[in-house]
Amino acid sequence: MSEERESLNFLEQMIEKDIASGKHGGRVHTRFPPEPNGYLHIGHAKSICLNFGIAAKYNGLCNLRFDDTNPEKEDVEYVDSIKDNIKWLGFDWEDREYYASDNFDQLYEFAVKLIKKGKAYIDDDSAEKISADRGTPTRPGVESRFRNRSVEENLEMFAGMKEGKYEEGEKVLRANIDMSSPIMQMRDPVIYRIKKVAHHRTGDKWCIYPTYDFAHGQSDSIENITHSLCTLEFASHRPLYNWFIKELEIFPSEQTEFARLNLSYTIVSKRKLKELVDGNYVTGWDDPRMPTLSGIRRRGYTPASIRNFADRIGVSNRDGIIDVALLEHSVREDLNKTANRVLGVLDPVKLVITNYPEGKTEDLEAVNNPEDESAGKRTIPFSNEVYIERSDFMEDPPKKFFRLGPDREVRLKYAYIVKCTGFKKDEVTGEVVEIYCEYDPSTKSGQDTSGKKVKGTLGWVSANHAIDAEVRLYDRLFITENLNTIDDDFKNHLNPDSLEIKQAKVEPSLATAKVGDQMQFERQGYFILDKDSTEGRHVFNRTVTLRDNWTKKG
Ligand code: ATP
Ligand code: MG
Repeated sequence: MSEERESLNFLEQMIEKDIASGKHGGRVHTRFPPEPNGYLHIGHAKSICLNFGIAAKYNGLCNLRFDDTNPEKEDVEYVDSIKDNIKWLGFDWEDREYYASDNFDQLYEFAVKLIKKGKAYIDDDSAEKISADRGTPTRPGVESRFRNRSVEENLEMFAGMKEGKYEEGEKVLRANIDMSSPIMQMRDPVIYRIKKVAHHRTGDKWCIYPTYDFAHGQSDSIENITHSLCTLEFASHRPLYNWFIKELEIFPSEQTEFARLNLSYTIVSKRKLKELVDGNYVTGWDDPRMPTLSGIRRRGYTPASIRNFADRIGVSNRDGIIDVALLEHSVREDLNKTANRVLGVLDPVKLVITNYPEGKTEDLEAVNNPEDESAGKRTIPFSNEVYIERSDFMEDPPKKFFRLGPDREVRLKYAYIVKCTGFKKDEVTGEVVEIYCEYDPSTKSGQDTSGKKVKGTLGWVSANHAIDAEVRLYDRLFITENLNTIDDDFKNHLNPDSLEIKQAKVEPSLATAKVGDQMQFERQGYFILDKDSTEGRHVFNRTVTLRDNWTKKG
C-alpha cells in the first residue's frame, strides 16, 4: 500500500486529499469534454485514459460531454467518430452522454441572471474594436462606452438578440468584470454572440450562441463534476470560471490543469490535422500515418498498447515532449504477445532449388507464436521454387554478411539448408533475377541429422503457393523532432517518404485473413490487413518494424 502511495501522481494526491476531507461527500466525478470539430488524436487519448481512469480508480463516474458551442466548425461525423474511438479504447460513459448545447436554455438564463445583477452588458462595438480595447497583458484595457447601460436596456437588447432582431456582429453580450485585470480573460469577455447558422443538434432554434468560456465551466457545474481536469493552456481561464460559479451561485466544480501530451515527430492539434486532410496531404482522418485514434487504429495500434502508453507517460504539470519511440515500443510489446508469426517477402526475388523434384509439395510445420504455446502450429507449403528477400542475396558479399551469396549456405526457415550454386542477371539492368541453389535433404528442420551449422536463416514463401499482397510501409509523417519550436508552416516539415508501397508475396495461410487481423511477418515487423483489401487483393499496413528504438535507449 505504501509503495502505491508513493507512485500517486499529483492529481491522484489531490483527489485522495479531497476524499479524505469529505469534500463533495467523497464523490469523484470527472468528464472528457471534446469539441466535435475534428477527430480525436493521441493527445486526447491521454486525457481520456486519465479522466476515465481516475473515475474508475476512485469508484467515481466519468461523463462524455461534447462542448459544442461553435456550430460552424462542428459536425455529427465528428461526434460519431469520437464516440467510436472512446469505445474502442475500452471506456464506457454508460448513459452519461451530454452536450453543452443541451444546456443552451439554462445558459441563456444564466446570462439573464448576470444582466440582472449588473454583471453583464450589451456592447455594440465591432469585434475589432472590442479586441483592441482589451489592451495587452502589460497595458490595461479601455472600458467600453456601453458598459453602463441600464439593466432594462440590456435585458431588452439581449432578448432582441435572441429573437434575431440584429445582424451578426451588431451586438454581443459581455461579462462586466475588470478591464485592468492582469488576466486577459477577466477583461469583460464576450459571453454571447450572434451567429445566424444552424447547429448540428439544436437546428434553427438559436441565432445566438454562448462562447466556449461561458459554456464549458457552467456545463461542468450543471453536471456536478467534482474535478474538472484540463490542459495547462486553460489555467488562465480558471479565474473566469470561478467568477461565473460565484456570480451564478452554481455547483463549485474545481478545475485542475495538467500538461498536454506532446509527441516527437507528431502534430497533436485537430486544426492542423484537419488542414492535412482538407489539403489532401493524407488520404483522410484515418490515414494510417495520422496520429488520430482512427489513423493509428487502422495502422494496427491496439487499445491496450495505447492505454499502457498513457500509463507510462504519467501526468505532470509541466510541459514536455515524449519520444514517439515509447509509443512504438508499447505496441510492439503488446503485439509480440498476441500476433501470430507468418512468412512474407516484401521485395521478392526467385530462388530455384535445382535438386528438389519439380511439382512436389511438402507441408512443413511452423510455430505460430514462440511467445504463446497455445497459439499452436500450422503448415506451410514448400516446393522447388521459392521467393526470398532481394536484400538477403549479394553477388559479392563481405565476410560479415551471413545471408546468401555464391557458394554460401543458409537455412530456409522451417525448411532445409540450401547452398547457392549460381544466379542469373538481367542483361540490360544488371539486376539479379533468379538464384540457383541445391538443398541438403538431411537438414530438414526438426529432423536435421547433418550436424551442419549455418549462420543465416532466411524467410521465404513457395513461389507456386504464395499469394500476392500490397504492403504499405510507413515512416514518420514529419521529419522534425519537435514541431512546437518551428516558426514556419508545419507542412514544410512533412516527410516526403512517409509511405512506401511494395508488391509482396506472402504465405498462403493469409488468403483467409480478415480486415483487422494482425500478424508478425517474421523479421519485417507487425502488420494488419487493411480495409482497402478486396476479394483477391490483400493490402497490409505495417504497424511498426521489429527494431525497438526505445529499449535500446532505455
Ligand atoms: P486541439 O488543439 O487538438 O483541437 P483541443 O484541446 O482543442 O485540442 P478538445 O476537443 O477541446 O481539443 O479537447 C478535449 C479534451 O482533451 C480537453 O480536456 C483537452 O484539454 C484534452 N486534450 C487535447 N489535446 C490534448 C493533448 N495533446 N494532451 C492531453 N490532453 C489533451
Ligand atoms: Mg479546444
